[in-house]
Amino acid sequence: MVVRRTDVCGERDGFVSATDFDIVVIGAGIAGASAAALLAQTRRVLVLERESQPGYHSTGRSAALFSAIYGSPGVRALSRASRDFLYAPAPGFAEAPLVKPRGALYIASRDQVPALDVFSALPDIAPATRAVDTAEALRLCPILREDYAVRAVLEPDAADVDVHSLHQGYLRMLRARGGVVATDREVERLERRGGRWRVTANGETYSAPIVINAAGAWADVIAGLAGVAPVGLQPMRRTAVLVDPPEGVSVEAWPMVIDIDEQFYFKPDAGQLLLSPADETPVDPCDAQADEWDVATAVARVEEATTLQVRRVAHRWAGLRSFVADRTPVVGYAPDAEGFFWLAGQGGYGIQTGPAMAETACALVLGREIPARLAALGVDARDLAPERLLGEPETAQRVTGAAS
Ligand SMILES: Cc1cc2nc3c(=O)[nH]c(=O)nc-3n(C[C@H](O)[C@H](O)[C@H](O)COP(=O)(O)OP(=O)(O)OC[C@H]3O[C@@H](n4cnc5c(N)ncnc54)[C@H](O)[C@@H]3O)c2cc1C
Repeated sequence: MVVRRTDVCGERDGFVSATDFDIVVIGAGIAGASAAALLAQTRRVLVLERESQPGYHSTGRSAALFSAIYGSPGVRALSRASRDFLYAPAPGFAEAPLVKPRGALYIASRDQVPALDVFSALPDIAPATRAVDTAEALRLCPILREDYAVRAVLEPDAADVDVHSLHQGYLRMLRARGGVVATDREVERLERRGGRWRVTANGETYSAPIVINAAGAWADVIAGLAGVAPVGLQPMRRTAVLVDPPEGVSVEAWPMVIDIDEQFYFKPDAGQLLLSPADETPVDPCDAQADEWDVATAVARVEEATTLQVRRVAHRWAGLRSFVADRTPVVGYAPDAEGFFWLAGQGGYGIQTGPAMAETACALVLGREIPARLAALGVDARDLAPERLLGEPETAQRVTGAAS
């Protein structure tokens, strides 16, 4: 099999053996697809994806929110740095806008007021939010119980992301630049020989000096195949359900409502309401399925905070959010294996940080500095480096449920 090489390493319209590449990316979710698309501008890139559909796992199961104040400081920097691309992508990247204004209302019950005060006073959070009294909170989301949401802050710039268009935009960009996506290819072997990785998937072997590990929840499994030390990745199951809104009420303009301790959230979703108990159940990497208990918890927690009465769960699903100990992604070359690049640990933020993660990964893979625009917004290679996680055997146990 041969593939046409259109604009690779200075040559045009050449042909290259389909087994030899400059970079093999493992995983075609948002992380692998976006990094591969940027690298394909100057490198021959192959993406290997185990499933038939590139968005089958976490990327296709998210709540699709962009909130620049959500997550660890490192995540918030990556989100800020992704904003420009999400709001104004390159011409031709997508047919329609990638984001739609939503707003995020972080609420506190009486006991949670101190937590909300601490959160909203953080230096990079205060300028992005404004305090909202109970009357305004109820105007924004009329089902909130007056005696529950006693304090709130609004992040007006939070937005819904069209995840499908974002992901497909990167896959199109990759292919247009001569990159190859091979689906139904499960990587089962990785060997380093003669300065190249030999990557075996479904009996076929591909080779490249650089491998990018963008395997989502399976990233530590891939490291194990390569003999690389794991980073202590812990996949956590999160559940979401769709329910009918109150009869005769249009919910489209409501913000996303998030409990400040992240015990639940809900948001409008195509005329229905998406509810989540914000669960974080540690599991092995798998095709996550919704658990009845978590579905019931989502409904119970939202019913306690609102006047919503759920009569029917129209749809339910679960997906994995995979974290390392400090809940900040891992982007950089492994210190213990030449040419093995980590792009993992996106947790619950892989969509909203996607564009900046891709730019960061592209620069670091090519041995360059992080672009100055990203650095000015706080993206720092040291916060993301795999080195920070090595030599700490208990990292997986120390992944906590701290609000983020
Ligand atoms: C319920 C829920 C809500 C969320 N809400 C948000 C949100 O509002 N905003 C946000 O930014 N993020 C959110 N997230 C998180 C976001 O979805 C993830 O961070 C992101 O999708 C991770 O992307 P990924 O490419 O790393 O992983 P994935 O999409 O899982 O992609 C990894 C790919 O690697 C492939 N793979 C694994 N092993 C192999 C192998 N051996 N060979 C070949 N391929 C392999 C898998 O098949 C998979 O397709 C949410 C997640 C969930 C579950």
